[in-house]
Amino acid sequence: MSRNLLIDLGSSEFLDNFRRNIDEFDSARLPQEPLSKENLRKLVELGIYLPAIPREYGGRESHREMCEIIEIMSERNLPMGMYTMIVTVLFLRNVAASGDDALKKEVFEDFLDNPVIGGLAFTEPSSGSNLARMQTTYHEDGDGYRITGTKHWQAFSEQADWWIVCAKHPERKEFAYFAHKRSDGGFVTTEVYDSLGLKNLGYGLNTLDLRVPRHYRLNKTRESLGDAAEILCASRFSKAAMASGFLRRLSTEALRHVSTRKIGDGTLHDIDYVRYKVSRIRQNYVVCNALYRHLMLDEDYYTDLENSMFASLATKVLSSELMLESAIDYQQLCGGEGYRMGAPDNIAAYALLDARVYTVFDGTNDLLCQHLANLFLRRFQQSGLRSPLEFIGRFGYLEDAFFLLTDINLSHLTDAPSQDRIVILGRILSRMYGISMLQKSSGAAAPSARLAVDEADYPKAIAVLKNEIVALVNEYELAGRLAGTGAEPEAMRAHTTMVTVNSKAGVH
Ligand SMILES: Cc1cc2nc3c(=O)[nH]c(=O)nc-3n(C[C@H](O)[C@H](O)[C@H](O)COP(=O)(O)OP(=O)(O)OC[C@H]3O[C@@H](n4cnc5c(N)ncnc54)[C@H](O)[C@@H]3O)c2cc1C
Repeated sequence: MSRNLLIDLGSSEFLDNFRRNIDEFDSARLPQEPLSKENLRKLVELGIYLPAIPREYGGRESHREMCEIIEIMSERNLPMGMYTMIVTVLFLRNVAASGDDALKKEVFEDFLDNPVIGGLAFTEPSSGSNLARMQTTYHEDGDGYRITGTKHWQAFSEQADWWIVCAKHPERKEFAYFAHKRSDGGFVTTEVYDSLGLKNLGYGLNTLDLRVPRHYRLNKTRESLGDAAEILCASRFSKAAMASGFLRRLSTEALRHVSTRKIGDGTLHDIDYVRYKVSRIRQNYVVCNALYRHLMLDEDYYTDLENSMFASLATKVLSSELMLESAIDYQQLCGGEGYRMGAPDNIAAYALLDARVYTVFDGTNDLLCQHLANLFLRRFQQSGLRSPLEFIGRFGYLEDAFFLLTDINLSHLTDAPSQDRIVILGRILSRMYGISMLQKSSGAAAPSARLAVDEADYPKAIAVLKNEIVALVNEYELAGRLAGTGAEPEAMRAHTTMVTVNSKAGVH
């Protein structure tokens, strides 16, 4: 189909056409190696980049379609969902938002028709979680800038045609963001990393000695690393799209596997515990479906996302942890064959290796939990309220969870917690956010038939998250005791909270 026809299609026809034509990219079939240019060309011809290109530059300019393409792709093949996200949400979105007109013209013309890739270079061997310590520097050099340093773990290290590079001013504590065209030279991959999973994207160690024209500097003016935080908000949100697609696939695959695997006179599906595990995978999908609906319907990649920081952090933490948990459960259900690369009847080995890194990259979850809790604690202190539960009832992103949390003792969670407890508090907040999103989704019309969820699943999914909160409150106490700050028997009452589908957890 020509590009003009693709542009003229209605949204559902465009997405249906995309979905119908990506079977060959299925994770059961696509070779475990960086995607070839010929294969990327097929995706470009299906319009994979069009939603991330503004209309005035010939694209479809659609937040909702950007989300849907990643969700659809992740159901077929999680690494390809990640691939799509990096090029569209991390690279093209930032050119559209902050690029000079001449840069936009050059980039979008290239991405409209050619099988090209854009990556993001932030992380360095000596600074990952602590980006402020980055060593890559920039300074003015004639008509443009010179950037020197070392970066590593970049997706598409050897393959990307374009980069957005973050560098620091050598004297002032200022960070700047530059587009770089690889063919201009100076971006050299000196070592290729052998990653455990996500093999369709290549990784490595890169040395940079770049000269970029003045108009390649992105117009980002927040102090310190404020712009990096906004850029990462978008990719953290996108984990909801990837988790929704991936977990729908695992849920279907797990049910199919246990229903066809013979054991005794019946199948695995006849075993209560097996059905329970299949249901856990299903409920994790339902949670991520709700997180995804929020991203697709209530956020917008074409706007600044700074004010959505809390939701993006909670989304990343919760969706990546549910993906990993379900990938392990699915592999367990597949038995020995689940431990086999290229097994004929399941994708468990790749699913686990691909999902594993989601809790690590894009800011490790432990660090993000700390940010999440600090955001919450700051707002709680500013509110002047004394009860965290009361504050939850007034805090936009959590308020829908309020009535479902009244039977858990949360009162001690905000009493000047130590760093380890702050991390656990962040994890608790991510689960509260999940409950809030489930409450919002239940009873609302599904955005499409593909994303429809049985209403009866909502109270079950809420019960799963509530159970996790109780376990995390327990862990919060444990951390204190392991650090020697004493047992707190009163708080331990939270352990005895029974979470059942028929309890308040199910009210919606
Ligand atoms: C497959 C993959 C793809 C990637 N893609 C890209 C990319 O495209 N572009 C790019 O620039 N980078 C990329 N990265 C880098 C990635 O973002 C970093 O690895 C990540 O941010 C963590 O930084 P680090 O590796 O330096 O870990 P460290 O900062 O050394 O952290 C290691 C561990 O320390 C603990 N920790 C750290 N801080 C805290 C805290 N505050 N509280 C509790 N525990 C903590 C956690 O357990 C954490 O996992 C990728 C990495 C991988 C593995």
